[in-house]
Amino acid sequence: MAKILVVDDAEFLRVRISKMLSGEGHDILEAENGLKAVETYKSSKPDLVLMDITMPEMDGLSALKEIKSFDPAARVVMLTALGQESVVLEAIKTGARDFVVKPFEKERVLGAIAKLLG
Ligand SMILES: [Mg+2]
Repeated sequence: MAKILVVDDAEFLRVRISKMLSGEGHDILEAENGLKAVETYKSSKPDLVLMDITMPEMDGLSALKEIKSFDPAARVVMLTALGQESVVLEAIKTGARDFVVKPFEKERVLGAIAKLLG
């Protein structure tokens, strides 16, 4: 059981992931852009963050950087699309712990989470 922050500007994706994870017994927080993700991280200290890359207001890479400077131990998994390899590489260098390529399999998401929480 963990507190997980789901960050994506696509509402249907947030809902889908949130349902999937609450079905596993996790507590879910949601944010629709990087700015809100950073605010929510600071106020709620989730155990794990699933972070989209392309978002309005603040993108996922910038939000990752802010979260890691606030909490170097933050566990962040990037949600990426095909063609974002260079951003993924930069995210990993910045401290992202894993990434999942969209459209993703439920097992891949749950596996990444289990590995980081385990
Ligand atoms: Mg997006």
